[in-house]
Amino acid sequence: MSISRRSSVQVAIAGVRVGGGAPIVVQSMTNTDTADIEGTVRQVQALARAGSELVRVTVNSAEAAAAVAPIRERLDRSGIRVPLIGDFHFNGHKLLREHPDCAAALAKYRINPGNVGRGSKRDPQFAEMIETACRYDKPVRIGVNWGSLDPELLTRLMDENSALPQPRDAQQVTRSAVVLSALGSAERAVELGLAKERIILSAKVSGVQDLIAIYRDLAARCDYPLHLGLTEAGMGSKGIVGSTAAMAVLLQEGIGDTIRVSLTPDPGGDRTQEVIVAQEILQTMGLRAFTPMVVACPGCGRTTSTVFQELAQQIQSHLRARMPQWAREYTGVEDMTVAVMGCVVNGPGESKHANIGISLPGTGERAVAPVYEDGAKTVTLKGERIAADFQEIVEQYVARTYARRMTP
Ligand code: SF4
Repeated sequence: MSISRRSSVQVAIAGVRVGGGAPIVVQSMTNTDTADIEGTVRQVQALARAGSELVRVTVNSAEAAAAVAPIRERLDRSGIRVPLIGDFHFNGHKLLREHPDCAAALAKYRINPGNVGRGSKRDPQFAEMIETACRYDKPVRIGVNWGSLDPELLTRLMDENSALPQPRDAQQVTRSAVVLSALGSAERAVELGLAKERIILSAKVSGVQDLIAIYRDLAARCDYPLHLGLTEAGMGSKGIVGSTAAMAVLLQEGIGDTIRVSLTPDPGGDRTQEVIVAQEILQTMGLRAFTPMVVACPGCGRTTSTVFQELAQQIQSHLRARMPQWAREYTGVEDMTVAVMGCVVNGPGESKHANIGISLPGTGERAVAPVYEDGAKTVTLKGERIAADFQEIVEQYVARTYARRMTP
């Protein structure tokens, strides 16, 4: 399942297609010190195994640049082919020049036009990075960020605005500056010889309404594939809700060809959460399917035990853990829905809408759990092994329902 997006231009990043009707690509970024080769390899592996289709790493020092090619080699040896993107600021031109192995090993360069260099250094340093991209035939993301907006551009636009008979408010001028920075930098890159089919744009801000306004403007003015994401989204539910609120509006309008959810993990938390959230945004919107979805009721006063919550959690974890193998063996399992419901009020009805569903006993109900497959009741489970028996039923359903892939 996929929906074509609005950009007609397609950028190929080491085999991963972005834009031009390709499915929306999920990407992520490491938070390890890139100079720590082992730690970065482990995290890229985890992100790729969670489903990240592109992974960005910081390249901020000579040590980080020197580590990129060994990281690529180790990933390849472990069978992880996910393209690596280098994130450059201030010294990117120098690092790419002095570390040709890094320039070659990366599949794409991210350039922030606000952080390329100040004053007279900015244009030649930007040009050097673009020329390197041309020489190594690498695509580039021109990634503007509200927090590091080109100060000279912003000052000029503010001055021009204040001279108008009816000046716009400062927020509108800043939004325009973000868009103009992205478009102007893309134009300059094309003048320097980078093909249009090698450019992706992003213009990230941390406010939901700002992001929506800026991307609508950007999408109306150009046909470059757009990388979508709310920057500095924050921690926990705030980060997830903010990213989802902003991206869902834009995705629904056909804006966005690749997404990243910029969550701040809890200390020691799992970096792969940002990949799962990005996948869930796309899957719940019906734009892509990655793993079977569990439909679970919220529970209420009718469910006085935690049995159904535990079962919903176990089933969700089981489906995610089994999906890599199912994906190798069968086609279409990612579209499966599994209902785990807390009582008979909505349980049988929701179970009938799902591919497979279970309705657990609510308070005062008989201690039995009817199971529905493709809308029909097939068995009633009871006793201590309800969870294990249900997982086995799901396994049998998958084997019976989905076509086996041809083995090469
Ligand atoms: S299905 Fe039953 S347990 Fe779940 S929310 Fe509805 S009434 Fe409550």
